[in-house]
Amino acid sequence: MSTLTDLENLETLGTEQVLDLVLSSHAQSRVCFTCSFQAEDVIVLHFLRKRMPNIPVLFLETGYHFPETYQFRDDLTREWSLNLVNVLPKQTVKEQESAFGILYRENPTQCCQLRKVDPLLESLEPFDVWFTGLRREQSPTRKNLKKAEHHRLPGGKTLLKVSLLADWTWGKVWEYTAANHLSYLPQYDQGYASIGCQPCTAIPDDPNNPRSGRWSGKKLECGIHTFSESSQ
Ligand code: SF4
Repeated sequence: MSTLTDLENLETLGTEQVLDLVLSSHAQSRVCFTCSFQAEDVIVLHFLRKRMPNIPVLFLETGYHFPETYQFRDDLTREWSLNLVNVLPKQTVKEQESAFGILYRENPTQCCQLRKVDPLLESLEPFDVWFTGLRREQSPTRKNLKKAEHHRLPGGKTLLKVSLLADWTWGKVWEYTAANHLSYLPQYDQGYASIGCQPCTAIPDDPNNPRSGRWSGKKLECGIHTFSESSQ
């Protein structure tokens, strides 16, 4: 088996080859997965749970998700006995709205910082390897995504960030979902293509940019994948 000395080499390997190589090279490492329960995340979980049934599944519990998302999270957690970790912001929705008003309308960047980025940064601190369900095709901001890259957190710690589906197409996501009888969020059947907090998610106008339905097209990222610095 090849070793993980050159991350570029991973780009030529298949999904499960990358996964097995990362896990065998990091047998003593602390590993986590950030999950919003979108179709890609369910696929990554399908791969991970066979090898690491207890992997911490970090869900950014902003308090603003669709009711259907909470139901789906709870159903899949029960069905697959997931080690779900709800990552909470410092303030409840009520406390934040009393202090700052409706930030997702007035200042979504600050809202995402308080409810996603800051809590995620804190929750990643104990880990060495971070799996995600990101794909290059999801957005122009993700076109240079690598299957594995080192990321330095603002506090100085470096993690290996692994995006097993980096080169998957939207078509392949749905082929795999159907072939493996995986369940998926019901909002997809209504036309949603990228599903996050309810107030900031709409059915996309641009079919070539599924994340154009997020934040009314005003921004494409909440910041949880751009706060850290790629050190490759
Ligand atoms: S996606 Fe919207 S509601 Fe969720 S944290 Fe960001 S601005 Fe707030």
